Amino acid sequence: MLPGQGAEGSKVAFQPDSAANPTLVFPDWPAPPGVIALVSTRIGGVSKPPFDSFNLALHVNDDPSDVLANRALLQEFLEPGLHLQWLQQVHGTQVIGATADGLTKTGDAVFIDQPGLAGVVMTADCLPVFFVARDGHSAAVAHAGWRGLLDGVLERTLETFTVAPSEVLCWMGPAIGPCHFEVGAEVLDAFLAASHDDDQRREIRESAFKAASSPGKYHADLYSLARLRLQRHGVTDIHGGGLCTFCDADRFYSYRRDRDTGRMASVIGIKRFS
Ligand SMILES: [Zn+2]
Repeated sequence: MLPGQGAEGSKVAFQPDSAANPTLVFPDWPAPPGVIALVSTRIGGVSKPPFDSFNLALHVNDDPSDVLANRALLQEFLEPGLHLQWLQQVHGTQVIGATADGLTKTGDAVFIDQPGLAGVVMTADCLPVFFVARDGHSAAVAHAGWRGLLDGVLERTLETFTVAPSEVLCWMGPAIGPCHFEVGAEVLDAFLAASHDDDQRREIRESAFKAASSPGKYHADLYSLARLRLQRHGVTDIHGGGLCTFCDADRFYSYRRDRDTGRMASVIGIKRFS
């Protein structure tokens, strides 16, 4: 039986509820009803170790036929006929407009402004950030590691919207938490150097970096770095954060923990204009 189908083969109502679907994580945000957003976990697919089991990435040396089977399963969880825009991610700041041509494009964020289209980013520690306009007519998802955050991938994504940042909701998905994301002083220095004033430097020092036990090392907080950038650019409605990929080995892939591992998919699509 395919997921989403009842015993008679008829479509049952899809429950956007992580308790009913342990394979998926659903954002807890007040998104308009015509928008679908989810993050896959490592649960419920067909990939073998170390990619077990719901790996969606073709570039990690998993068996391509297993990845394609997992992608078909992901499509089953979404609206039938929803076209997914896949990316080749490069830790940059380019925002790709989703199309239905099925071609993978190079970039680190996808913007959607038509029903029937969806965007996907893949992560295994980097932070996926979801965006949706309150009117449900536009949405985006961005892949943000520390370098993408520093270089402005979230700001570039926000600028793609035709509505004001105050009309955009955000949700931050699973990423490596400050509990496990240790970085050198050069990362803190880079964020301080990119700051515009003392207030911003103080916010970064106070909320996004804590000294680690090793000298010259810091625990960096990607959720906090993302929140500071989004708030500074006018987003007031920010949800999520706090799901650590490294801590939760049952549900999430983590590159820092496992090196040879799979990728989760973060998907947002517009099923219909609300
Ligand atoms: Zn952790």
